[in-house]
Amino acid sequence: MHTARLIGTETTYRIGKIVCLGRNYADHIKELGNETPDQPVIFIKPATSVIGQGGEVVIPSYSGCCHHEAELALLIGRRAKDLTEENAMAHIAGYGVAIDLTLRDVQDKMKKKGLPWEIAKGFDTACPLSDFVPANKIADPHALRIVMKVNDQVRQDGSTALMLRRIPTILKEISAVFTLEEGDIVLTGTPAGVSAIQSGDVLCAEIEGVGRLEVTVR
Ligand code: MG
Repeated sequence: MHTARLIGTETTYRIGKIVCLGRNYADHIKELGNETPDQPVIFIKPATSVIGQGGEVVIPSYSGCCHHEAELALLIGRRAKDLTEENAMAHIAGYGVAIDLTLRDVQDKMKKKGLPWEIAKGFDTACPLSDFVPANKIADPHALRIVMKVNDQVRQDGSTALMLRRIPTILKEISAVFTLEEGDIVLTGTPAGVSAIQSGDVLCAEIEGVGRLEVTVR
């Protein structure tokens, strides 16, 4: 069972589904040659894809290209359906750091064929996740620096200020499709700089004021 811990409290949440937003930063859309979507690009990772701080990533043998995507994660604190932009933020219990690991070669193949992305995005260990900072400790979640380092080299250096869809809109759009439950996680997209990782790499994603998440690649 995978749990999310709220730092400084006794509260833990059993992680449910992880709902992820794709193509939410213009510079990342550009680097992959994608189009800016008018409808949100949404996909789900299963709870079994989560590993915690200090965990080990295992790249599946059917891929030759696994990319890191550092992202701000939201922990849902109470059940939510058909949220509005006005009431959405009150459903967030905390903020954390996630790495949306993506088998880019597999995803490219699936995209070309119009097939779903799960085997590229939802495999075991595909979602390294930090503990969560209580929401009331983060004054403005749209003003946080996100840095991703591989073996101490900076690969991604962006800001949540650059999100195309902001958090209230993301939650409104996701909760129109899926009921969000206590313990669900939402990933908000990644800035530019994604790149391939390999065996032995140390991945470190850091979000200002939220935390630092380090994992290694087997
Ligand atoms: Mg992503």
